[in-house]
Amino acid sequence: MREAVFTELAKHERPVSAYDIADNLSAARGKRVAPNSVYRILDVFVANNLAMRVESANAYLANTHPGCAHDCIFLVCDECGEAAHVDDEEVSRAVRAIAATRQFKAERPVLEIRGLCKGCA
Ligand SMILES: [Zn+2]
Ligand SMILES: [Zn+2]
Repeated sequence: MREAVFTELAKHERPVSAYDIADNLSAARGKRVAPNSVYRILDVFVANNLAMRVESANAYLANTHPGCAHDCIFLVCDECGEAAHVDDEEVSRAVRAIAATRQFKAERPVLEIRGLCKGCA
C-alpha cells in the first residue's frame, strides 16, 4: 500500500491531495481505498522526508531532495495549483530566529507564498 501511494504521489508534478490519491488508487485497484489510510501513509512519508506537505493547499508532493533537511519555501499558484519549490537558507534561518527570540521552539516553519505563476500571471 505504501508503495502504491508513493508511486501515485510521484506521478504528480503539482501538489496532490490525499483524496485525489485515494480516488486514483481506488480506480486503479477496483476497490475502495479510504482517504484516511492514505493520509496516514503520507504523514509517514513527510516524517521520513520522502514527501513534503504544502499546508496552504492541503496537499502533498514527492520530495525531490530527500537527502537534505531544510525548510522548503513554496510559491503556490492560485490559478493552476503549481507549487514551485525554492530553498533559501538565509530566509529560513531568519524565520527560525524570530521564533527563538520568543523562546518558541520552531519544529517546522511553513513558508508558502500564494499568488500567480509566470504562466498564469
Ligand atoms: Zn527544499
Ligand atoms: Zn499557475
